[in-house]
Amino acid sequence: MLKTWFEIPLWQRVITALILGVLTGWAWGPDAESIKWIGDFFIKAIKMLVVPLIFFSLVSGVAAIGDLRKLGAVGGRAMILFVVTGQIAVWLGLGLGTVLAPGAGVDTSAIQRGETPVPNETTAVDMILSIVPESPVQVMADVAVLPLIVFSLLIGIGILMAKEEGVPVQKVFDSGAVIMQKVTMIVMELTPFGVFALMAWVAGTLGLDALVSLAKLVGLNYLGCLLIIAFIYGGMIKFLAKLPVRDFFRGIVDAMAVSYSTASSNATLPVTLRCAERNLGVSNSVAAFVISLGATINMNGTAMYLGLATLFGAQIFGVDLSMGDYFLISILATLGAVGAAGIPGAGLIMMALVFGAVGVPLETIAFVAGVDRIMDMMRTTTNVSGDAAVATTVAVMTGEIDRGEMVSADDV
Ligand code: ASP
Repeated sequence: MLKTWFEIPLWQRVITALILGVLTGWAWGPDAESIKWIGDFFIKAIKMLVVPLIFFSLVSGVAAIGDLRKLGAVGGRAMILFVVTGQIAVWLGLGLGTVLAPGAGVDTSAIQRGETPVPNETTAVDMILSIVPESPVQVMADVAVLPLIVFSLLIGIGILMAKEEGVPVQKVFDSGAVIMQKVTMIVMELTPFGVFALMAWVAGTLGLDALVSLAKLVGLNYLGCLLIIAFIYGGMIKFLAKLPVRDFFRGIVDAMAVSYSTASSNATLPVTLRCAERNLGVSNSVAAFVISLGATINMNGTAMYLGLATLFGAQIFGVDLSMGDYFLISILATLGAVGAAGIPGAGLIMMALVFGAVGVPLETIAFVAGVDRIMDMMRTTTNVSGDAAVATTVAVMTGEIDRGEMVSADDV
């Protein structure tokens, strides 16, 4: 019995758990919350991996790139892909919001109000300051991912600069990275149980009622995300990376299922890394570098949603937006997506940044908060798929991919 369980590929167990979780939630109703702790247990287990995994993998990844010029080539390409796809995503959200007008004719009194999160008062200067790690230990204790990335990058660069003398420390990080991959494999075995419990909880407590009044917005959020995944990422893999699109998506099924059920790019990070390296054949150095960075700053689902939600707010409250406002939204939504932490609900908080600048009432946040989770799940899946797509494409461009690994995605 146990043997047959482990013989089924993990991604098949995860997808089955996802479907069974939804069915169980719908049949069970709000009481399904009683098994949410199993999902929390799973999330805690993967969160435990985030700091040591980023630290060891990123330092060892940067050091493995070998020289500073190559590091610049990988980093530069990744940043270009992050920015270009981010802009396309925001304009897609703005386009969908303008053409299909989800907020037109919405009776605001009928909308179920969620709780308004405290508006985010972080300024651009605060954001810049927050990426400098004042104390690396503090940064690790707080699981502050962006300053941790900066610190790890610097250590990696230091190792490269130290040349021969840096080798002993590099070996420690290489071995730490391998150990963390093994620990990740153990934790991944919890995925089917965690995904089942989380899906049962969402389906059971949210129900369809909450969706009816906001159905159009939720539908457009899903449509926008699916378009990004299919066309931007599918196109990137097909035309830039020149790899089979089907194998790519099959290789990241685990990461997609985990991101969908946890709504957190950070919590999914260990899984995304493993999918990219093991199923897609991306080299450890490129995967660690691009995916750790991407999980924090590359959020196309969030960027698209911020554009869409701003139009939704403007429509329900009758705010007229000029073309200049559209450009302002496109910049702020991109910044908001970069600044949003890879945790559930981060995009919702970032709305305050965009809304305030173009005069959309912050009340909109309260309206959409009730259904945010179900939209968050889809935008997180988009964010995570984007990290994998960019890592794969950059790996192909810089010769850091082992195509033999990718073909074997069938036996994941
Ligand atoms: N939950 C998303 C993520 O972790 C961020 C968001 O709220 O849009 O990627």
